[in-house]
Amino acid sequence: MSVFKPARRWQPAFYPFKKEKLNRRILAKTELCIKGPLFGCRMCGNCLLQETAFICPMECPKGMRNGPCGGITPEKKCYVDETRKCVWYAIYQRALKTGREETLLEVLPPLDWDKVGTETWGDVVRQIRKVGTGKFIIGVLSKDKEKKSEIWNSVFKTIRQPEWWKGDGEYHQALSCEPVSDLEKRLRAGEFVVATEVTPPTGAGTDKLIRNIELVKPFVTVINFTDSSSARPKMSSIACCKVAIDQKSEPVFQIAARDTTRTGMQSAVIGMNAVGIKNILCVTGDNPITGSLPTSSMNFVDIDSVQMLWILRRMRDEGIYLDGRNIKNSPKMFIGAATSPFSSDPVLQAIKDHKKINAGAQFFQTNLIFEPERLDLWLEQLDKRNVLNKVFILVGVAPLKSYKIAQYLHTKVPGVSLPEKILKRMEKAGESAPEEGVQIALEVIDSVKRKQGINGIHIMTLSWESIVQRIVTESGLGR
Ligand code: SF4
Repeated sequence: MSVFKPARRWQPAFYPFKKEKLNRRILAKTELCIKGPLFGCRMCGNCLLQETAFICPMECPKGMRNGPCGGITPEKKCYVDETRKCVWYAIYQRALKTGREETLLEVLPPLDWDKVGTETWGDVVRQIRKVGTGKFIIGVLSKDKEKKSEIWNSVFKTIRQPEWWKGDGEYHQALSCEPVSDLEKRLRAGEFVVATEVTPPTGAGTDKLIRNIELVKPFVTVINFTDSSSARPKMSSIACCKVAIDQKSEPVFQIAARDTTRTGMQSAVIGMNAVGIKNILCVTGDNPITGSLPTSSMNFVDIDSVQMLWILRRMRDEGIYLDGRNIKNSPKMFIGAATSPFSSDPVLQAIKDHKKINAGAQFFQTNLIFEPERLDLWLEQLDKRNVLNKVFILVGVAPLKSYKIAQYLHTKVPGVSLPEKILKRMEKAGESAPEEGVQIALEVIDSVKRKQGINGIHIMTLSWESIVQRIVTESGLGR
């Protein structure tokens, strides 16, 4: 067992794909023998320990390298394996304690799989030599904090931020001020917008999909199409978006890191733009453990949602692919991200959201909110970080149709929790549960539309599309 790692067990270390030279193999074994017991190191070959408060993020089952997902349980455990603590929660807590929380804003790269399983000390030694061994030692021992961090970064930042990534902790404003979609135009104009979602069909037929799009279209600005929500296969988001465009409505293309790779995502974005989709929402996606049998790999996403945002923003604003190739007609898009304001402490959650905004998120769609008063703390934290004015926020609202659905959301959906009073109201309502659910949704909307920093709502219909008209009309948000 390792000394400093928060998780229950030490997950197996990686091995290199190619046979390494003997000296590198010996160095790798030595590194594993020392860093393994100390930090739970898995030999990812792309070490970030200096930036993650000396807790190895590779213990996260999803392989998140830029902060927690939205699925931390109320006990701060990992929802993929509730027997262990969320490694990212532990990293954030330690960073806060040691006053290093701002280092968590740096957008860290995805794994370079060529290096996985290999030693990293060689790179460090080479970089120290380049900087000058004496200069490095003097700098590290210096009492001057700035000098110390400068010399430290000249070695470690160069290693962890390769040329093909160049991540940082700064805010990058979108280059063009021209809105690319109706959603962006309305938000920029200060309109309180309504988004909704239509459930993608499980078969290849589009009749019901078209009917539902027609049903909600007159009352909303955009329609989201989830990307295999709950890790269950359905019609792809991109196909649903194309159907929506054909019906003259504006879609939001959701893309889940769970099912995509760095190559696949970049190709999908070029494709989505070619067929006229302009809004994209990057989500990490529910882990396969929540989905259908047989369970697919619970281990690892190729790129996490922060990395997705960083790549997309650079494709749009710098006109380059991740591999550095120029894009002739770079994609025009309004980039969004999901957030779970209550999944962890508001202070910690705001750090993660700040990072997403820095990386490229222009709008947020939140997870389902049933306690709007709790949003204030989170909004306050975003404001303190001076990013509340840099992102548009759409609050997730759901009309509960039954007590069973309320219970399901509360116990089975990562990042969603319903307060006792809502569960009780739904239980007590009996046969009038759908009416009670609508009233709850209207109360939430009434509360959030008066909050500063909230720019709209996102009605997650849970396959109850016919209720959108009533909610929009009765909440006074009709166009
Ligand atoms: S999967 Fe999510 S909850 Fe689990 S350790 Fe990773 S970030 Fe934490």
